[in-house]
Amino acid sequence: MTDHTHDPAARSWVASADHPDTDFPLQNLPLGVFTLRGREQDTPRIGVAIGDQVFDLLQALPLLPALPPEVREALCSPRLNALFALGRPAIGAVRHAVWRLLEAGFAERQRAADALRPQSDVVLHLPCDIGDYTDFFASPNHARNTFNLFRPGQTFLPNFVHLPIAYHGRASSIVPAGAPLRRPWGQVRIHPDGSPQVVPTRKLDIEVELGFYVGQGNPLGQPVPLSEAEQHLAGVCVLNDWSARDIQAFESQPLGPFQSKNFCSSLAPWVVTLEALAPFRAAAAPRESAAPPLQPYLEHPADAAAGAFDIRLETSLRTEAMRQRGEPPVPITRSRFAHDVCWTPAQMLTHHTLGGCNLRPGDLLGSGTISGPEPGTEGSLLELTWNGARPLALPHGESRTFLLDGDEVTLTAWCEREGFRRIGLGRCTTLIRPALEAPY
Ligand code: CA
Repeated sequence: MTDHTHDPAARSWVASADHPDTDFPLQNLPLGVFTLRGREQDTPRIGVAIGDQVFDLLQALPLLPALPPEVREALCSPRLNALFALGRPAIGAVRHAVWRLLEAGFAERQRAADALRPQSDVVLHLPCDIGDYTDFFASPNHARNTFNLFRPGQTFLPNFVHLPIAYHGRASSIVPAGAPLRRPWGQVRIHPDGSPQVVPTRKLDIEVELGFYVGQGNPLGQPVPLSEAEQHLAGVCVLNDWSARDIQAFESQPLGPFQSKNFCSSLAPWVVTLEALAPFRAAAAPRESAAPPLQPYLEHPADAAAGAFDIRLETSLRTEAMRQRGEPPVPITRSRFAHDVCWTPAQMLTHHTLGGCNLRPGDLLGSGTISGPEPGTEGSLLELTWNGARPLALPHGESRTFLLDGDEVTLTAWCEREGFRRIGLGRCTTLIRPALEAPY
């Protein structure tokens, strides 16, 4: 449901929020957690991005007297978990209250202006204590590409059309944008028939994903029906699920990814709420034409019609040489969530809880790599370069198969639709650092 907070004609008194290119107009109002630059040891505060500023909700609290006491208390927390635990009505109440303060007609704008901080003056932290991280595998194009690469001649495994496949990932190594990534060591079989060697990965890769934060949790043993699943989702962020393909190739049989994935995942620090995404709802990508009917627990008319979001993603790369020449990053791939992923976030959440698994506020559900069907829309270098067989051409004669030390990768995402204001999810930029000289 859209309302006055989505009105494209609404303006903010914060001038930068009205710039056509900003990710953070008045219609977005994503939540994050920050400290002032140079004071990173301070207790973080919850803020809202508006234009090129952060609106400090702790400082603005006296201007928000109508919020229920439990919501006001949650806004005093150093993380978003407590607010998310209160569910969608609380998140929606914060959105409406903050919108009113930042809208052009607000009478006490001078008092509100005291709570603004330039984004260049703050450090953004992980917005939640992420207790658990689950990563899905839900893009048919990605599934098809990886099967063609590693099991030529086969179609997907039969489970793909019946359920959103996932594995339990590692929450402790999730870091916010800007934190550098050190190339990991691992066991790699360099010659197909030889013994593995312990080396720094030679196939460091991106995975272009979205991360969905769990809002209100569910008790252990209590599944969440699809009709209620979105009440348990708080918002979305850009997620880069780093992968080491050579480590993955050796370790992932018969179990799932381990060292090839658990060294790091990076995310953009803003949480764009489901409320902000209301104008950008869409149906998920169709499943295979020959796919069997859905199990009833994964089927609901509202979810089928508009359970996904038309979020566009772009990844760009800047090599060390490009940085030295002062050149901007070059885009290497673009994809779209609703077009390229066949399961909705609500279906993922419902399936996650089918056996009674409890989700907790701030848990993160990764969408899985989002790959489109066309060249240049693949969500990993594995697919873009066909496991290194087709190097990507970069400016000045450089090329890449997988990432080299000194490379800088930026994921960004946004939503745009005729009749609504464009909103962005922010950016996730990471610099690749060399491996340790020796792991032990
Ligand atoms: Ca992944």
